[in-house]
Amino acid sequence: MANRSRREFMRNSLMGMAALPLGAGILSKTAFAQVLPRLDPTSDQAQALNYVANAADASDHPAYEEGERCDSCMFFKPDTEGCQLFPQNSVEPGGWCQSWTAQA
Ligand code: SF4
Repeated sequence: MANRSRREFMRNSLMGMAALPLGAGILSKTAFAQVLPRLDPTSDQAQALNYVANAADASDHPAYEEGERCDSCMFFKPDTEGCQLFPQNSVEPGGWCQSWTAQA
């Protein structure tokens, strides 16, 4: 009986240790995504490209077409929610700016 409990303990411990890298990867990805501060839509650089945090708010912009969002733009970096055009910030996945370009 004691041997069985010890064997189960060892097996569960090993399974827990095997799952650690996966959990650490998820945590570090989340933590890294939070490193970049959100782009302020009222900032000069955001306004230069008519960035809005909610794509629907760009519906009156002549370059905007329905369905265009940052998370479908080729400049969007999903792992950090960053944007190549705003390297110091992250952007709202549902945002939009006039430089939106379809992903390849
Ligand atoms: S370039 Fe693309 S990802 Fe960056 S803010 Fe504009 S629409 Fe969003």
